Amino acid sequence: MVSSVSVSHTLSSAMLSLYRLPGAPTAKPPLFPSTSTFTQPTPPAFLFPHSKTLPKPPKFPKSPNALLQWNRKPQLSGETPRVVVVTSGKGGVGKTTTTANIGLSLARLDFSVVAIDADVGLRNLDLLLGLENRVNYTALEVLNGDCRLDQALVRDKRWSNFELLCISKPRSKLPLGFGGKALIWLVDALKSRTEGCPDFILIDCPAGIDAGFITAITPANEAILITTPDITALRDADRVTGLLECDGIRDIKMIVNRVRTDMIKGEDMMSVLDVQEMLGLPLLGAIPEDSEVIRSTNRGYPLVLNKPPTLAGLAFEQAAWRLVEQDTMQAVMVEEEPKRGFFSFFGG
Ligand code: ADP
Ligand code: MG
Repeated sequence: MVSSVSVSHTLSSAMLSLYRLPGAPTAKPPLFPSTSTFTQPTPPAFLFPHSKTLPKPPKFPKSPNALLQWNRKPQLSGETPRVVVVTSGKGGVGKTTTTANIGLSLARLDFSVVAIDADVGLRNLDLLLGLENRVNYTALEVLNGDCRLDQALVRDKRWSNFELLCISKPRSKLPLGFGGKALIWLVDALKSRTEGCPDFILIDCPAGIDAGFITAITPANEAILITTPDITALRDADRVTGLLECDGIRDIKMIVNRVRTDMIKGEDMMSVLDVQEMLGLPLLGAIPEDSEVIRSTNRGYPLVLNKPPTLAGLAFEQAAWRLVEQDTMQAVMVEEEPKRGFFSFFGG
């Protein structure tokens, strides 16, 4: 289940290498095409401005299965529902962005997903998903007996197998008495719905390590830890890892967000490998800094739905795929100086 990759380029090639893991295409093919073969498209001419003839398209790796994986639905491992908390410690590192994008990627892969916005005071998952006008009831009203659970679940406009559950109205405080047990009750209620138990329950955790954090992690049995490659986020991530382990959550994978290749090259930013060495966690994904993330946040249209997909969107999709199959990268070797040509990595 563990893939090791060795990359001999700048990090931008390293980013590309993430998409060359088993199950990864170079250009995004349809998710489940009717044919079982996938033909590599010819690289665009602008990549080779000085060459008269285009170079041969890169050869594919040895195992044909590695290619065909993308043409199938990933196999869901682990018991369902998989209750995954998305957490970080530090605020503003991309928890909500990750919950929205991984959640919709999973829905596109045909898994049923419920995303719980557990950031009580500062909820914004509904905004990122463009669902803010559809939230009429929240989990608190369900718990008070003012509405049914299905009335508080907001179905996504685009993918009906994705639902959002907000804990409370914006700017309200975590009410006394609302804690981990209440969230466990909600998760149990989701499990026993007549529509069937969802495949994934994603919990968008608030920043910090106080009551809201403890509540959000209580029902989870696995965690995605988001960090940016800076020392303050890493310190908080390390602290949170310890707290998650104390709570019995051993399955923790990390996403390194807002990675900037230019800064890594100039040695102004830690590389993904540095981050991994410091935290000692398996890597679920490395997401580049991408202005499209901000644009998509403002439009309420998650990045993974963009056509054509951006680099960050592809990285989120890859992370979703790895989450389903519980595959993680234990080691990412990143060498800053390219040794051979760009396509040497692809065997060209
Ligand atoms: P959190 O939930 O951890 O507080 P958010 O997901 O709300 O963080 O993200 C905080 C801000 O960072 C948002 O404005 C978002 O658009 C931006 N952001 C997150 N990830 C990226 C990225 N990869 N590239 C650029 N901006 C990003
Ligand atoms: Mg958030």
